This record gives sequence, C-alpha cells and structure tokens, in this order.
Amino acid sequence: MVLGKQGAGKGTQCVRLSHHYVVPHISTGDMLRGAVKSGSDLGVKVKEVMDSGELLGDDLIMEMVAERLAEPDARARGFILDGCPRTTHQAEMVAALLNPGDIDLAVDIEVPTSQVLRRLAARRVCVDCGANYSVAAPPRVNWTCDVCGGEVVQRDDDKEEAIRRRLELYERQTAPLIDFYEKRGQLTKVNGVGAPDTVLRRIIRATEDRRQRWGRHR
Ligand code: ADP
Repeated sequence: MVLGKQGAGKGTQCVRLSHHYVVPHISTGDMLRGAVKSGSDLGVKVKEVMDSGELLGDDLIMEMVAERLAEPDARARGFILDGCPRTTHQAEMVAALLNPGDIDLAVDIEVPTSQVLRRLAARRVCVDCGANYSVAAPPRVNWTCDVCGGEVVQRDDDKEEAIRRRLELYERQTAPLIDFYEKRGQLTKVNGVGAPDTVLRRIIRATEDRRQRWGRHR
C-alpha cells in the first residue's frame, strides 16, 4: 500500500510497482474517475465531491475496494493499493477485510509540501488512459497522449482551491496513518524527491529489505 501527499508521485510509482511485481494496481482515484466517466447518477455525485477536493464517504469507498479485492487477480499474488486507506477508519476496514492478515507494507513517499504544490499545478493527465504529464514534460504532439492518443488536460481537482483543500484533508485525515502503520510495524518511509526512476528504485529496495527481514522471522 502506498501513502503520500497529493502530487508525491503515488499514482505513477504504483503503476510502475504493479509492473515490477506483476500484481494488479488498485487505485480508488481511478475507480472513482471511471464512475464519473460512465455518466451514472453515482458518477455525477462523485464528480462534484472530487472536484471540490473533499473525500468520498468511507462506506462507498470500502464497498468498491471490497468488491475489487474479491476478484481472482487480487487474490492470486497480492496487489498494490493506491489512494486507500485515506482515513484511520478506512485503514481499520481494510485490515478487517483482509483478516486473517493485513496489508504487508505501507510505503510513505515523502515530498515537501512546497514541492508537491509546484508538481500539482504543473500536472496534466490523459482523459482516456490517465497517463501523467507535466507542463515541463508534455506529450510529444499537441497535448495528445503519447500512449493512447487521448486529450491531455489539467484535472478538475488540480485547480488551486481544490488542491488547497486536498492537502488540508491530507494533513488532518491521512497523515495520521503514518503513525498508525508505524505502530503496527508495517511502515517504510521513502524519500520521494528525485527522478521517478530513482524514487522507484528506493521503493523497491525498501520493499526488498522488508521481505528479507520477513524471510528471517516468518
Ligand atoms: P490524489 O492523491 O492526487 O488526490 P486520487 O486519484 O488518489 O488523487 O484521488 C482523487 C480524489 O478521489 C480525492 O481527492 C478524493 O475526492 C477521492 N478519493 C480517492 N480515494 C479516496 C478514498 N480512499 N477515500 C475518500 N475519497 C477518495
């Protein structure tokens, strides 16, 4: 499970980790954006909440996550959980859901707030496949996604007001999870400043260190 402030590179690193370990990437943000795209009544409500930078209710999120975790690919060799849990209540519900056991490791990607603010303001995403770009590293052709040809835009919740609200909620609701997982001996902190490849290598190294220690103790 990967934790980190908005704009810490959580999504990008989770996609890479899921390729590295060949396990599914389960992202609540992507699932919610899928609901928005479907245009369903639920999607319309979800969009309103997301665009304002608020969090969706724990029950809705956990229902979605429980359903996804019950699918065969998630049960086979594990998964990378991205964007959930975001509150202590969600963390308790995830542990209950995976009982017996729990998530193996919570990785906290640490990036100073001044830097995530800069990254978020410059972030651009593909509306179709969700690939990430930035103003400094745009797609090759005219804001058209290099991966799928979709339109590359600024996320509605990457506008200034919503960013401020999301970071406020992160400090209040999500940051306490660092303590939560630390106390349970499930946390590893990784320096998130640097090129994506460098940060990925740090996460993999930290994960492998943990696995070796488990190997000795389990
Ligand atoms: P970011 O980490 O950049 O905010 P995400 O894609 O993880 O991006 O989430 C986008 C939005 O989706 C959040 O601001 C929130 O509104 C909603 N969301 C995603 N995951 C959760 C969750 N676990 N609990 C509540 N709301 C969530």
